Amino acid sequence: MTFKLACGDVMPGCTARFESNDRSQLMEQVGAHAAHAHGVTEVTPAVRQAIDGAISIAA
Ligand SMILES: [Zn+2]
Repeated sequence: MTFKLACGDVMPGCTARFESNDRSQLMEQVGAHAAHAHGVTEVTPAVRQAIDGAISIAA
């Protein structure tokens, strides 16, 4: 099972894409990217929920 996220679904205009077979690892990658690329230093529950909702799962 692969978890995938297109950052552009959360941050319009961003072309970064992430995938991992571990959901929490994917969240870490996205969190690091968001801090580095978007200046999002705090992953609030709302941010986490937006990311969570953008994750797609491929079998
Ligand atoms: Zn991004």
